[in-house]
Amino acid sequence: MILGCIADDFTGATDLANNLVLAGMRVVQTIGIPTEPVQDADAVVIALKSRTAPVDEAVEASLQAALWLKAQGARHIYFKVCSTFDSTPLGNIGQVAEALADLLDARFVPVTPAFPANGRTVFQGHLFVGAQLLSDSSMRHHPLTPMTDSNLVNVLRSQLHSRQVGLVPHQAVQQGAEAVRHAAQQLVAQGQCMGIVDTVDQASLDVLAEAIAAEGWPLMVAGSGLASSLPAALGCTVHANAKALPPVEGAAAVISGSCSAATNAQVAAFIAAGGEAFPIDALRLADGAGLVQEAIDWAAPKLGQQPVLVYATAAPETVRAVQKTMGEALAGELVEQALSQIAVGLVAKGVRRLVVAGGETSGACVKALGIQSLRIGPQIDPGVPWCHAEANGLRIALKSGNFGTTDFFHKAFDTP
Ligand code: ADP
Repeated sequence: MILGCIADDFTGATDLANNLVLAGMRVVQTIGIPTEPVQDADAVVIALKSRTAPVDEAVEASLQAALWLKAQGARHIYFKVCSTFDSTPLGNIGQVAEALADLLDARFVPVTPAFPANGRTVFQGHLFVGAQLLSDSSMRHHPLTPMTDSNLVNVLRSQLHSRQVGLVPHQAVQQGAEAVRHAAQQLVAQGQCMGIVDTVDQASLDVLAEAIAAEGWPLMVAGSGLASSLPAALGCTVHANAKALPPVEGAAAVISGSCSAATNAQVAAFIAAGGEAFPIDALRLADGAGLVQEAIDWAAPKLGQQPVLVYATAAPETVRAVQKTMGEALAGELVEQALSQIAVGLVAKGVRRLVVAGGETSGACVKALGIQSLRIGPQIDPGVPWCHAEANGLRIALKSGNFGTTDFFHKAFDTP
């Protein structure tokens, strides 16, 4: 293994793994810290749930993950954060980064959430979402991690305890890797051993990747954009078959628990195209487990003939009504529990190719199916690859709410 990655949430881990595979690396993503060594992988991405966890827990889990990755031979540690730098003034990005830097004895740590292909760029230390400053984007209203300051040097500074942070400016990045190394040395000389790196396009990330390789910096803090530049810079052999997965045959199913606009459109399009679909009425779930069995019995005779869809996906006003009746937490929990039991039931009936829509829904299904590691395969849509579940041979795709084109569900089963 060349690269050890720690992602602060599940779908962020998949996004990173997908970009590494597209750049030619063989990648395994694990859910939490693995208990056994991972074979035949250039990179391992450990998915944690540390973005909004209490700081101490986030730090502890990240340190344990880094120790495991180092023990497996990782030369560099890539701490993957959200491309909108989602965090609160208390952390967790800064405090986790600081703890990892201490563990790895890092003289200098480059930091950039940039993902230019998705419109996330950094200039003069300020993060842009498309043409808007981060603080003008919808992220300023995020329920858990509102981002009201676009100046990442300030944001990171407020999260650090013992280390100081400066800026590697665009002027240096433009001149190339040598100038970036020089700028970093100057920061270190001033006692600033972390640096927000201006990265306005993929070429900037190529330059940063080259500097990381040349300096041997053991730790980087980045969004998934850097993953496209890193494998080549680290001299990783490009595996033409990096995304090849073991063949799979068997019935196809979709479980959908996301209520995002994109998923609502995908469910509607699947049904409009004649797809077989079973709705889960969230209000009925409070009455007991009957609906789970009903859904499995409905699906069983159809399996293998065409993909089936079981969905709790609903319009915002329906979800609000359900949440008002049951409470938000109970509604979410009951739906996740029901959908994950249905996933287990369908797999027991012969489903071998499974799409799950929704980040939390994916987490619940993967757990219920006993999946601990996923080999990353071909991309269906940006950020959503097919994966091979090493535990049971299942082909599974985990779609975060807003990802995927409207025809995603049919497209997935047409993607070999
Ligand atoms: P996304 O990736 O779109 O955020 P998630 O799966 O992470 O999707 O979150 C969706 C949440 O909404 C889950 O907790 C799910 O159980 C819940 N949910 C799904 N359908 C309904 C519904 N009809 N009523 C209330 N809650 C629902």
